[in-house]
Amino acid sequence: MYRSPFQDIDLPARPLDEYILEGAVERGAHPALVDAASGRTITYAELAELVGSVAAGLADAGLKPGEVLAVYSPNSLFYPVACLAAARAGAAVTLVNALATAKDLARQLQDAEARILFTVSALLPTVREAGAGTVREVFVLDADEHHRSIGDLARSKGARPAADAARGSADTALLPYSSGTSGAPKGVVLTHGNVTANIAQMSHALEVTPDHRVLAVLPFFHAYGFSTLIGVTLRSGATLVVLPRFDLAGFLDVLTGQRITHALVAPPIALALAKHPLVEGRDFSSIRQLLSAAAPLKPELAEMVHRRIGVPVVQAYGMTELSPGAHVPPRGQTPPPGSVGKPLPSTECRLVSPDHGRDVAPGEEGELWVRGPQVMRGYLGRPTDTAEVVDEDGWLHTGDLARVDEDGWFFISDRVKELIKYKGYQVLPGELEAVLLTHPGVADAAVVGVTDEDGMETPRAYVVAAPGPGDGTALTAEAVMEYVAARVAPYKKVRSVVFLDALPRSNAGKILRRELRNPAARA
Ligand code: AMP
Repeated sequence: MYRSPFQDIDLPARPLDEYILEGAVERGAHPALVDAASGRTITYAELAELVGSVAAGLADAGLKPGEVLAVYSPNSLFYPVACLAAARAGAAVTLVNALATAKDLARQLQDAEARILFTVSALLPTVREAGAGTVREVFVLDADEHHRSIGDLARSKGARPAADAARGSADTALLPYSSGTSGAPKGVVLTHGNVTANIAQMSHALEVTPDHRVLAVLPFFHAYGFSTLIGVTLRSGATLVVLPRFDLAGFLDVLTGQRITHALVAPPIALALAKHPLVEGRDFSSIRQLLSAAAPLKPELAEMVHRRIGVPVVQAYGMTELSPGAHVPPRGQTPPPGSVGKPLPSTECRLVSPDHGRDVAPGEEGELWVRGPQVMRGYLGRPTDTAEVVDEDGWLHTGDLARVDEDGWFFISDRVKELIKYKGYQVLPGELEAVLLTHPGVADAAVVGVTDEDGMETPRAYVVAAPGPGDGTALTAEAVMEYVAARVAPYKKVRSVVFLDALPRSNAGKILRRELRNPAARA
């Protein structure tokens, strides 16, 4: 068993909104949130005020403690306000991927039984297509003539929910969706206790101070974005510079023009910083560190970024089910290349052999198990799925393979679960295979992640074509990719296709994905 190098910490006993906003009123005019495009700012005093007034508006609009509120939006200044106000009103927040299709959105709203939805005007057509389902009212974070806005809610004259209104640490705070180690997306029940513990753990290990200006380019809807950006940054009194969407030129302008000191990035951003010509000739001197998470980052790439722009890139590791942090590089220590750091305070780890089920010898690779206060309560309404991931002793089996060096640094080496990570987003092979099998020209299909020389993973389909129509036309890779692209969210697209005569299957008929992922087996 591996313990954190840090002393255990006292776990916060306050609800999420209060914990994050502790000290906000006293911080007064210090900027909490800055819109990167318009420069519009919400100060800490305004943030504390807005959370109270929007919570009153939500209560007035009929949101009851214990109900679920959904947020379906790219990053915006008002995203954190909506989430913290919902928490203040006693609701749980389900975070929806802003790239979700109407079908994905409808499924999540239904499964989470969301009653109120926050979105932005640009996404209203998708919201309409998804249908109301369990949702009673839709509010916008910007402005729309047919919907009430968060600003209207803030002007409500209703009674404010008391900051100390009963929200126990075992009550649900966040409900992001993740496929975990197998199957379809499931609601990950993260309690107030889970999320505040993880914010406290990360704050302790990372050290963020009020003079930091942190760029919020990773989405708030992903647990990383939520806990690290909204959680750690705002709790620490630093300034969050919010970027609604990623385009490289805009990102670089903000990164270098707004005195950013820290940014949380995903590996594709590191790739751009390492290789893209647009990066040339800019001044990155305000930036002290970039933290990459959500997918593997090749050490060579991190090193290239460091050499090119003079900024160290370190990695953290986590999983939605861990609220989401498990490992970060402890402050003041330089991790060896490729390491994801060391376990957070109050976090224990084991490396267990998937073959014999016992802990592996030091230095050997095993499945990473994690135990700590950040381990989710479970999957919403799915006790069997929960039991497959969290065992009776509270260990979360991550489905990732890892090893530890003699100094206690962790390295993620591979994944035993089926999940594909495209730009840090979850792509589920099973979902794409189901789509492929609806194509009349496809007799059989399997999807796996393939990694290019930069370490970026993309979904590839292995397809067995159905016997042709006899007119000489054959199913093409382009046709297969277009077919899938028309039916799934853009980040789930199949990006390459290989035709096979038959898929490798076990005697029990299970697709042998490892054989497909292993180039030697494919040849
Ligand atoms: P998610 O729940 O979307 O955050 O995905 C969690 C998964 O992303 C983990 O189980 C890993 O497979 C992968 N992941 C996250 N961070 C890293 C990292 N630094 N290195 C390698 N894989 C990572």
